[in-house]
Amino acid sequence: SPLKRVTLLGSTGSIGTQALDVIRAHPGRFQVAALSAHANAELLIAQAREFRPAVVVIGDEAKHEAVKTALAGQGTEVLAGSAALTEVAGRPDTDIVLTAMVGYSGLLPTVAAIRAGKDIALANKETLVVAGQLITRLVKEHGVGLYPVDSEHSAIFQCLVGEERNPIEKIILTASGGPFRGRTAEQLASVTKAQALKHPNWDMGAKITIDSASLMNKGLEVIEAKWLFGLNDDQIDVVVHPQSIIHSLVQFQDGSLKAQLGLPDMKLPIQYALGYPERLPSDFPRFSFLDYPNLTFEQPDRATFRNLPLAFEAMRQGGNAPCVLNAANEIAVAAFLRDEIGFLEMPSLVESCLTKVSYLAEPSLDDYVLTDQETRRVAHELVGRR
Ligand code: NDP
Ligand code: MG
Repeated sequence: SPLKRVTLLGSTGSIGTQALDVIRAHPGRFQVAALSAHANAELLIAQAREFRPAVVVIGDEAKHEAVKTALAGQGTEVLAGSAALTEVAGRPDTDIVLTAMVGYSGLLPTVAAIRAGKDIALANKETLVVAGQLITRLVKEHGVGLYPVDSEHSAIFQCLVGEERNPIEKIILTASGGPFRGRTAEQLASVTKAQALKHPNWDMGAKITIDSASLMNKGLEVIEAKWLFGLNDDQIDVVVHPQSIIHSLVQFQDGSLKAQLGLPDMKLPIQYALGYPERLPSDFPRFSFLDYPNLTFEQPDRATFRNLPLAFEAMRQGGNAPCVLNAANEIAVAAFLRDEIGFLEMPSLVESCLTKVSYLAEPSLDDYVLTDQETRRVAHELVGRR
């Protein structure tokens, strides 16, 4: 099969560096067209020297000159700033854009890539949470592929191959439960960021690690699944499965359940999204039942981990409510990571923003941008007032 040219946005992060491991392992299959980082100029330079992309973007404009100087003479164009990221996402000389940046910053580059007819390998789930309706409409209009990288959604996507004519009855997203599974609200009130940053099964960026500890990650994934698979709100269930071996399940109308299993390793869903429809060979460690004699399942504690019901509620409201949920959560996580608010204040902040920011039933792209700004303003004010 032909060489796929990959634009990798957020190449210095957890997903970004693992994507480059996958690309490095398949030199005849993938070629890097563009790379981007936000602040980590050093790693971006090292990656650009190894993979020689046509263009790189450094988000932090103060580092523009340093990156330019370091890459002078190797034929790589060097740009800076968020507008450049959106411009590069829509460039012609690439086939697939892997969105591995964190948070709301993924929205405008993803829109630009779809409008330019690029397939999307989507790690940046926040984009589908913020504007799922708009993104899925654009994907249809432009006839591009939207391939999930998130492990749960990759599992469902893999289970649906060959089932195109069969309606989904429901999907079941598995959740590890995070480091605080089984804790009471009293215990959660005093947990520290160091405790929250220690995930039992996955080594990920700071924002998603906090989201996993608070179950907001599963809430975001519920909304992500709704849009990826065209589901109604009542077709999505969550079950806690602490071993993270079953990555998620689909139930069809005959009652049959299909699941995808494997060791927790993001390289597999990254490789599947980049290689689709092919399964490429890998030397990833293989699963053995001998190491996992007990796979267990339990209900999430929705009363203690309030982010999960809040996300379901925002999904049911629709419109700009999930955009509010996401922006409020980004401010909450950043404030928690600066020790400005406690663990349980994160869902409280999200809930307050959902009641304070005005509801829009049919937001345009500009409305999403404004809702994000307005929610950040409201959330900052609430954090400051405490
Ligand atoms: P990281 O924090 O490890 O990496 C984030 C990447 O985005 C870095 O390259 C970073 O650059 C860049 N970045 C940060 N802020 C901005 C910004 N404002 N604008 C543009 N780029 C920015 O995150 P992860 O790799 O863990 O997660 C990336 C996405 O993938 C998230 O949406 C997450 O939810 C999703 N995901 C991650 C999983 C994982 O296992 N890590 C699993 C499933 C989904 P720099 O390094 O210079 O700061
Ligand atoms: Mg996931």
